[in-house]
Amino acid sequence: MNEKENYIACPYCKEWTDIRRVTNICHTCNNSKLVRDPREVLCNNCGGTMCPIGTMNEIHPHGLHKAKVTGGFNSYHLFDMTRYTFSLCEKCLRELFNKFIIPPELNEFDVFDDSVGQTEPWYQDQKNYEYRIWCDDGGHHQAYLNKKCNEVKDCPNDATWTVLLNSDYSENCCCDIHKEKYNTAYPSSYKLVKFIPHTLKAFL
Ligand SMILES: [Zn+2]
Ligand SMILES: [Zn+2]
Ligand SMILES: [Zn+2]
Repeated sequence: MNEKENYIACPYCKEWTDIRRVTNICHTCNNSKLVRDPREVLCNNCGGTMCPIGTMNEIHPHGLHKAKVTGGFNSYHLFDMTRYTFSLCEKCLRELFNKFIIPPELNEFDVFDDSVGQTEPWYQDQKNYEYRIWCDDGGHHQAYLNKKCNEVKDCPNDATWTVLLNSDYSENCCCDIHKEKYNTAYPSSYKLVKFIPHTLKAFL
């Protein structure tokens, strides 16, 4: 626990005049003009911040924030009449999900009408996550330099196609097997052309 809690100016209303404050309430800070320093909103498991620091949403904790669970009369592993409050960041949640014997259920959802859409198996979500990490760690770029398909993580095949987005060159490239998705599900803003290696990039 922090001995002292630090606060920063509320990013949503810091420009407001006092006149505006008479009739409007900022729902983020309740017109206190201050919000908790996001670097101090911590995950109980790893001790890291719950907030995506450096983004426009950095004051909003992500993950399971201040979750509460209470024991009941027949509880054994928790105690009756005791409330447990804790936070788990997204990284810790993913690690926890991966330990589940029965994986979590996944649904796409619509924030506007709360309807539940398509379901996706957990393993696919985890695969997408591993691809994201691979890209951010430089795997995507390195595969491109090696003239390998980078449509999926560690595809052993040579790249035969370069993906153009709105006619712009990109390092996204794919093999014949992984070009399939561009034929069907993708919007026409994507186009495949014969693979353009980095050595030819200068001549574009
Ligand atoms: Zn505010
Ligand atoms: Zn954590
Ligand atoms: Zn491939």
